[in-house]
Amino acid sequence: MSTTITTMKAVHYEKSFEVSVREGPAPKIQHPDDTIIKVTTAGRENMGIVDQVSSGVTLLRKGDRVVIPFNVADGRCLNCEEGRTAFCNGVNPGFAGGAYGYVAMGPHNMFAFPYADFNALVLPAGTRHESSFAFLADIFPTGWHGVTLSNFSPGESIAVFGAGPVGLMSAYSARLREASRVYVVDKVPARLEAAKKIPGAKPIDFSVGDAVDMIIKENGGKMVDRSVDAVGYQAVGSGKGEEEEPNVVLEQCIMVTRPTGGIGVPGLYVPADLGGPDEKAANGMMMMSFGKLFEKGLTIGTGQCNVKKYNRYLRDMIISGQADPNFVVSHEINIDDAPSAYQKFDQRIEDYAKVLIHPNGPLRS
Ligand SMILES: [Zn+2]
Repeated sequence: MSTTITTMKAVHYEKSFEVSVREGPAPKIQHPDDTIIKVTTAGRENMGIVDQVSSGVTLLRKGDRVVIPFNVADGRCLNCEEGRTAFCNGVNPGFAGGAYGYVAMGPHNMFAFPYADFNALVLPAGTRHESSFAFLADIFPTGWHGVTLSNFSPGESIAVFGAGPVGLMSAYSARLREASRVYVVDKVPARLEAAKKIPGAKPIDFSVGDAVDMIIKENGGKMVDRSVDAVGYQAVGSGKGEEEEPNVVLEQCIMVTRPTGGIGVPGLYVPADLGGPDEKAANGMMMMSFGKLFEKGLTIGTGQCNVKKYNRYLRDMIISGQADPNFVVSHEINIDDAPSAYQKFDQRIEDYAKVLIHPNGPLRS
């Protein structure tokens, strides 16, 4: 006989760097396509064990271990049919994309999601590769997608701007895809250290010089074939301050990429950035060297990751031992530890790379 769970725990973002754990009503099945999972690992990710399936779900069974794309999709609109699930027209009517409302919930120990047969990726039973599989929800496919957006081919050189979780995953993906040289740009020491865990990746510290000059020098005087902007609009310049310079990374990508090369932009840009440094930025507009971009014949690929396009293949690379993105994990905590852990991160927020939460306690085999 199954137990009925009537409450769930969730991490609430009270304000910047302050969270609390609250109990609330457990999620309910509302639609024939819905499924509820008991979350084993959360962050921006959601993976867990199927707890309940609704009447229309035919591919999943209670007890299946699954991971869910951060941007859920309906599987039946024009963009989904063409494989562009990040731009699903059906999940949020009037908007192309299903990420919001899910990510904003914060970590929680029970999770209901729609269109379950389409969205769930089934994993081998047990607890093996837990954190690596959790990254199939977002950062591993997103990093891989950044490399794809740059039109990368094996053997090419690539510069990745940003050594946060997505940048590290882009650099790691480029290695898996046989890049000849990989440069990873950041200024946070812990992130540059994390980049060193990627075999052959060369960290570039932009606090000590111009990133474009340093990369070209390291690359034997040549521009790189591809670049990836894994930073987005919240980029900061090389100055000591942390003032936002939304165009700085795109500009560097244009300058460091060889003529007819390509730029991939998985980093987030928004149509309205109210905290931006000026009125143009507030309206999502920025200056960039479009003339240089045209002169060099560069391509730019942008947008959120179509997670379903990649996640089953990346899962199989983890299972076969070809890939193990687990190296980006910096902290693993339980949900009740979230308030104190988040406060600790506040003191040295830039130091941490990636936190995973196990909302139902430590994993047991
Ligand atoms: Zn769709």
